[in-house]
Amino acid sequence: MMSGIRGKDTKPELLIRKALYARGYRYRLHIATLPGKPDLCFGPLRSVVFVNGCFWHGHQCHLFRLPKTRTDFWAEKIASNQQRDIQAHTKLLASGWRVLRVWECAIKSRHAQPTAQVIDMIVDWLEGDGDRSVDIRGTN
Ligand SMILES: [Zn+2]
Repeated sequence: MMSGIRGKDTKPELLIRKALYARGYRYRLHIATLPGKPDLCFGPLRSVVFVNGCFWHGHQCHLFRLPKTRTDFWAEKIASNQQRDIQAHTKLLASGWRVLRVWECAIKSRHAQPTAQVIDMIVDWLEGDGDRSVDIRGTN
């Protein structure tokens, strides 16, 4: 289960990439020179999108639960992931990027919204001039 939500090309990320591509958006993937290596980068819009697995990024939601074995190891690991996320987020905003985070629980969980609705929210954000930092998450 954990291996299934790790790293690049996780399922929610693929869903989002495909849907945005179908709507005509083009983006670059996992740019190593940007803080936090954003999953999708929309250069001309100065916007990046992260698709975060709730376990690895320690999201406060029902998908996150510390494993009962090696609990200290996982607690430390996830705390350091969270620390990195905060630093990347701060740096991106400071250098003029807009940052949208889509959490796994927004796409796949019992509290998920229809994927099309999530995509609409992403598109609205990309096209709008609202908050420079936005989170889309499940409804719990
Ligand atoms: Zn979550």
